[in-house]
Amino acid sequence: MILHPTYDINEAGHLTVAGLDAVELAREFGTPVYLLDTDAVRAQCRLYREAFREYFGESSLPAFAGKALCYKGLYSLVAEEGLLADCVSPGEIFTAKSAGFPMERIFFHGNNKTDDDLRFALESGVGHIVVDGEDELFALDRIAGEMGKNPRILLRITPGIDPHTHRKISTGNVDSKFGMAIATGQAHAFVKEALGCASLTLDGFHCHVGSQIFDTEPFEDACDIMLSFMAQIRADTGYEAEILNLGGGFGVRYTEEDPAVDYRDNIRRLGSEIDRMCAMHGVRKPTVIMEPGRSIVAAAGCTLYTCGTVKSIPGFRSYVSIDGGMPDNPRYTLYQSRYTVLNASHAADPADFVCTVAGRCCESGDLIAEGISLAKPSRGDVIAVLVTGAYNYSMASHYNRIPKPPVVELSGGKARVAVRRETYADLCAMDQ
Ligand SMILES: *Cc1c(COP(=O)(O)O)cnc(C)c1O
Repeated sequence: MILHPTYDINEAGHLTVAGLDAVELAREFGTPVYLLDTDAVRAQCRLYREAFREYFGESSLPAFAGKALCYKGLYSLVAEEGLLADCVSPGEIFTAKSAGFPMERIFFHGNNKTDDDLRFALESGVGHIVVDGEDELFALDRIAGEMGKNPRILLRITPGIDPHTHRKISTGNVDSKFGMAIATGQAHAFVKEALGCASLTLDGFHCHVGSQIFDTEPFEDACDIMLSFMAQIRADTGYEAEILNLGGGFGVRYTEEDPAVDYRDNIRRLGSEIDRMCAMHGVRKPTVIMEPGRSIVAAAGCTLYTCGTVKSIPGFRSYVSIDGGMPDNPRYTLYQSRYTVLNASHAADPADFVCTVAGRCCESGDLIAEGISLAKPSRGDVIAVLVTGAYNYSMASHYNRIPKPPVVELSGGKARVAVRRETYADLCAMDQ
């Protein structure tokens, strides 16, 4: 096993993904290619579902955050596993709908939903709209009234927590484009306004403190603040929230330096804290929803590339160039995210070649990893970047007019194309 049960090395010295030889997969499907071990995704969905039922209560469920990975087949899988889904755009809702995902199980997020987005969500029959601010609240109330609908809503609240994570992925701070802050009194006023909206039914509150969080502490702090807020609201207005949605954010092990995460134990600890805090604040225990994205799909996915040029600059460094890069994985360019990279063709050899893995774009910042070591590759070797199941395909672009790679699902020892490779003609399909 390398980092996660999905990855291993076979007798040929090749990397295996879900038991299949990565070098053979690269030959069969071409590179770059995204692989996804869907048995591992299902196992993670079940772990979340069962742990929620056991530690948060019967009605509590996880919602898969589609922004981490979004294509029709994945929504079918998530529906089969009985999860809810969190969508952040009409495009994600449309994808879920096209896959037959039950619309009533969707939470619709976003800090700037347009009137058209809101109409689309109401026409589609999404279960809950998570309202981000006053302008949206009043727009939704008006549009719902015009359409003769009575949508269920949650309000996005900012608890004011810095989860000690990367600035760009921490959203629970008071200074945030998301939600309404408790600290400024705006959240309190927001609730009163929502209760006064004739066409809307307030079901509860939502918060999201950040992403790639290894500790349960930021979630416990968020619960404490949210439950105390709920107690104040009840004292002030008599309104008792039924749903508390705590967002996503559990961390994932990307490299040997990251800790292994026991998700079940995190949920158990959070569950007992919620019980304790409900008793302390004197509030009835709400239905608890969380929205894991990364921690459901990241570990189950990897990307295979083919090594092209290997260039060593004396006194500086060595560059290993691959046939993909920032168009299929912009995370290093955006956040200097760290990855485990292997020479999949020689995975059992000593990883003693220190190098920078560079993409193929005309952009110096197009890198995947710096200062990592792998078995020295030569032209034609298969290079694997592990743990790319989240925020890779979903963040992919066409920069440099590079077609997006396919998504190949691996299950029960078989491989199946779930999203086909784009062609050059696809790139020109919208050009008039
Ligand atoms: C990003 C996000 C998630 C998912 O976060 P992960 O870190 O992928 O678990 C869930 N809910 C909201 C509102 C988000 O913005």
